[in-house]
Amino acid sequence: MKRIGAHVSASGGVENAPLNAATIDANAFALFTKNQRQWVAKPLTTESIDAFKANCAAHNLESDYILPHDSYLINLGHPETEKLEKSRDAFLDEMQRCEQLGLKLLNFHPGSHLKQVSESECLATIAESINITLDKTKGVTAVIENTAGQGSNLGFRFEHLAEIIDQVEDKERVGVCIDTCHSFAGGYDLLTQGSSAAVFDEFDKVVGFKYLCGMHLNDSKKGLGSRVDRHHSLGLGVLGVEVFKFIMNDDRFDDIPMILETIDDSIWGDEIKLLRSYAE
Ligand SMILES: [Zn+2]
Ligand SMILES: [Zn+2]
Repeated sequence: MKRIGAHVSASGGVENAPLNAATIDANAFALFTKNQRQWVAKPLTTESIDAFKANCAAHNLESDYILPHDSYLINLGHPETEKLEKSRDAFLDEMQRCEQLGLKLLNFHPGSHLKQVSESECLATIAESINITLDKTKGVTAVIENTAGQGSNLGFRFEHLAEIIDQVEDKERVGVCIDTCHSFAGGYDLLTQGSSAAVFDEFDKVVGFKYLCGMHLNDSKKGLGSRVDRHHSLGLGVLGVEVFKFIMNDDRFDDIPMILETIDDSIWGDEIKLLRSYAE
């Protein structure tokens, strides 16, 4: 079964996210468990945690299909010790918040080398950050998202994801999330169903579908290989809808959260309906 939702607002408390997901008839969703632009957040209250779980249960939103996203400030590959420590502390806090909420996945961008270290050194640092965090937590999988490769961000090649996974000790608790906009901007041609099939065959060879824990379904404002991360609503960008038809008809994408991060939240319900119509 295809599990489709959007990155919904958790404004007013995490317990509101499942309610917002239910409003758009989603059977998956993403959220920030804290303000994504701040380093430190107040701990989750027991009331908020209980309400989150109750609201998820009331709307049949299971933790397997909930894909929280970490803060944009975190760089797990930071070349400077002090800033790396700050990122690792914040990432541990994000993981622990997921544990408290009974969630199983935490989606994050791998990190950037800031032109101070080589790609391989940065990827090794990211893997070490994941190892340290997994050692201190239980039950939550670290889900590495591919990026558009903007600036010095790594993760825009499937090989980057594979190189990180290769150095993670607990392979049971590492996975990946593939963002269609990021893939396209990063240089992967998803313009037709045929080219999409080729890209995902390459993904399977380099990373492996067994590591696929989620998808971000976004059109792109920028072109193939632009290395610029600008999402658009489905069918309104330069990517078009063929890749989404491909995904909706391929059972390798069953039973994982597939999340819209498109720019117009007023049409998320329609976008979910459109995606479901491709599968019929
Ligand atoms: Zn992301
Ligand atoms: Zn994304």
